Amino acid sequence: METKEFKAESKRLLEMMINSIYTHKEIFLRELISNASDAIDKLYFKSLTDSSVGLKKDDFEIFITLDKNDRTLTISDNGIGMTKEELENNLGTIAKSGSLSFKSDNELGEDVDIIGQFGVGFYSAFMVAKEVEVKSKAFGENEAHVWRSEGVSGYTIDACEKSDAGTVITLKIKDNTEDENYDEFLEQYKIESLVKKYSDYIRFPIKMEVETPHFEEGKETTYTKEIKTLNSMVPIWKKNKSELKEEDYNAFYSDKFMDYQPPVSHIHSKNEGAATYDALLFIPSKAPYNYYSKNYEKGLQLYSSGVMIMENCADLLPDYFSFVKGLVDSQDLSLNISREMLQHDRQLKIIARNIEKSIKNELSKMLKNRREDYEKFFKEFGLQLKFGIYQSFGAAKDTLEDLLMFTSSFENKPVTLSEYVSRMAQDQKYIYYACGDSTARIDMLPQAEAVKDKGYELLYFTDDVDEFAIKMLGKYKEKEFKSISASDLDLSTETEKEEAKKKSEDSKKMFEHMKKFLGEKVCDVRLSNKLKTHPVCLTADGEVSLEMEKVLNTMPNADANIKSQKALEINPDHPIFEKLKSLFESDKDKLDLYTELLYNQALLIEGIDIENPLDFSNKICSLMI
Ligand code: ADP
Repeated sequence: METKEFKAESKRLLEMMINSIYTHKEIFLRELISNASDAIDKLYFKSLTDSSVGLKKDDFEIFITLDKNDRTLTISDNGIGMTKEELENNLGTIAKSGSLSFKSDNELGEDVDIIGQFGVGFYSAFMVAKEVEVKSKAFGENEAHVWRSEGVSGYTIDACEKSDAGTVITLKIKDNTEDENYDEFLEQYKIESLVKKYSDYIRFPIKMEVETPHFEEGKETTYTKEIKTLNSMVPIWKKNKSELKEEDYNAFYSDKFMDYQPPVSHIHSKNEGAATYDALLFIPSKAPYNYYSKNYEKGLQLYSSGVMIMENCADLLPDYFSFVKGLVDSQDLSLNISREMLQHDRQLKIIARNIEKSIKNELSKMLKNRREDYEKFFKEFGLQLKFGIYQSFGAAKDTLEDLLMFTSSFENKPVTLSEYVSRMAQDQKYIYYACGDSTARIDMLPQAEAVKDKGYELLYFTDDVDEFAIKMLGKYKEKEFKSISASDLDLSTETEKEEAKKKSEDSKKMFEHMKKFLGEKVCDVRLSNKLKTHPVCLTADGEVSLEMEKVLNTMPNADANIKSQKALEINPDHPIFEKLKSLFESDKDKLDLYTELLYNQALLIEGIDIENPLDFSNKICSLMI
């Protein structure tokens, strides 16, 4: 009999399980029952169209047996079973590939994190068992096989006898240690309570032979044995909301969606009318590690009258709500509906629209009543909402605009657009925003000063997508958005404008000279109306802002032709302006040098790389000596 080695990753996971200090070792039972239930689901689903299965709904069951003398706990199911190859592939290799390469930075430690986040499933058996045996016969196969392992040393697979399709898992329970009581997993009451706690909603009966004591006065206590169904089998979403507590929802969520952190919100709805369905939706409190990557798959589980027909129905969720987990159960959907047909299903479309509305309502409610929770939610998933506006070219505006938040110069914390607009100054025409890597960086922008000096609130756009999303919104409550880097920032009064115009005209020739010297680098050199104390700034004329150019340039297939039209603006109230004027009269070469230096300074202030830092620094030095 050949002993095979586990794959390296599986071995590490297994070691973790065996030596686990995880306090909820009891979840092993939930994991094994859930596997058994999935296996039964598959065979039950088959039985609806394939009479050779030979089982009716009521025939399917999970059976638990305890043997204190042997120290064994056995879980059998009459589900789909596994072939020899499946035993090898499913149990010899960790199913969730990549989960170990994901290092946790969780303060609770790696142990808890991996177990919680990935619901390591089958291997959790090794938290309580010193030996595991899996006997299985796949439906439609003649031969059965048994997989055995005592842990990291490896496993064996051999042919064995088993009459019907299904799987029998036998755990040889560890001996008690000083810190751990493993004996309790051989106790009837403990198993009963664990099934109730974690697996009550499982749709198939979980049965066990139980001994009930009978006390009669004056007589010896007698015991009767009976087979009892331990779970209520009513799926949680079919229960009345009034029967359910927060922790019931949380327990269901963490079991089903393998997230050990409770969700921030759940939505449990029962609907009748144009579409009849029950929905149970959860908003996670943390984004999964792969959320903002291509690997993340959105979708809800889809049930037809209690039978799962699709694990991940993507059509039920718009991309901007892709973080929502949950399920939909509808009697309107046929059991045998194919993926292709589903996409065009009218009923499904109605359900999807309703679901979108309920998610939106739940988020709005959270924003209104549980501000702190909402801010946390937005930190995790706000980016997705902003992408949503951008990707839909503004079509999702009505759904999403009131859910957005941006950090504000007034409070240095996230505010909504509605809050911004409600406290705009009387003479304020626009919603002002500024783009940059961080709020600190934006505060350093010369243009920010002028807006804040006016007493206007400024929104900090620190995510790449922010400005793109806002361009798609166009306006919010009839108010236009205005970047503080825009050429027509429009902060001056009429007299200020007159004065500026005169000054500009007086120096027209000088600006023409400077523009000619800088050539294609800028579209204009002019006086600024938005600088207070700083000497220069860059302004974008036209649609593409400086920030957008930066973002677009970092994209994989960047189009080098997308450039902003940069204007160099000089502060008329800064001494440098007088200096430039006098150089224009006396020393044009020096004016050129100053022009170049000012242009490079303006680039640096905006956080844009300058072409030749060495040359720039040498030229500054030449002025210093
Ligand atoms: P997961 O269930 O999350 O995929 P597990 O490690 O728990 O991961 O199980 C790995 C695979 O082994 C399952 O996906 C399933 O294909 C198979 N499996 C486990 N238990 C059973 C069972 N009782 N009957 C049939 N297949 C099973």
